[in-house]
Amino acid sequence: MIRFDKVVKRFGDLTVLRELDFHVRPGERVTLIGPSGSGKTTILRLLMTLERVTSGTIDVDGQCLSHTKRGDRLVPADERHLRRIRKKIGMVFQQFNLFPNMNVLRNITEAPVRSLGVPREQAEEKAHELLEMVGLADKALEHPSRLSGGQQQRVAIARALAMEPEVLLLDEVTSALDPELVSGVQDLLRDIAHRGDLTLLCVTHEMRFAKDISHRVLMFDQGRIVEDGPPEQIFSEPTHQRTREFLQAVL
Ligand code: ADP
Repeated sequence: MIRFDKVVKRFGDLTVLRELDFHVRPGERVTLIGPSGSGKTTILRLLMTLERVTSGTIDVDGQCLSHTKRGDRLVPADERHLRRIRKKIGMVFQQFNLFPNMNVLRNITEAPVRSLGVPREQAEEKAHELLEMVGLADKALEHPSRLSGGQQQRVAIARALAMEPEVLLLDEVTSALDPELVSGVQDLLRDIAHRGDLTLLCVTHEMRFAKDISHRVLMFDQGRIVEDGPPEQIFSEPTHQRTREFLQAVL
């Protein structure tokens, strides 16, 4: 579903990803761990096409993010091509990023109506179902500013799912929450992950959550994967010194 092939990403002189290769199978749930600045968020931003690779290629569901075929020629991806790929991907951010001027219902229906052309009534019906699922059935008409951080993040999760993505990207989704709200949001995500056939790519500093949610954990250090394996192995018998040091610091 996701394939990185020799991906290099530089910001000026800073090389953030160094010839990165990895792939994620359909339905697989993969967590990225590693020290701050090791390039994890950049990977999610590249997938959302919020950033472009310096070199190398990224494919999502067999489609290249940087090029598209015109006849039998490869040409740089245009906005239409990128929009088609973006529709497959949902993202939930650390800071929720809800539209502050729209109520909860509108936050959830806006993208399906505008970018998928779903009739408003149908989008609203679906939004109510999603609000029920995230435990906020009574908040449809509230504005985000009147909700707690945990509630806002639940709306953001509902908003991402409203697009029926094949891939869901989670970027430190509980880092900005008050400690007592963290486990509720994690439980919700665990239910969602285990219920569907979503492909999930998750960046988190919460190792227990990583263990619960993922089939596979990738440990990053300085723009490279230093360890790749099932959570049981990475957390109990890490083979690399760098992973051991990192886990000692965060556990
Ligand atoms: P992580 O998610 O592992 O903490 P990031 O992917 O956020 O790491 O960042 C990796 C490095 O890239 C950091 O040193 C960060 O400062 C740098 N970086 C990220 N985005 C930009 C940008 N738009 N411009 C310049 N540097 C950036």
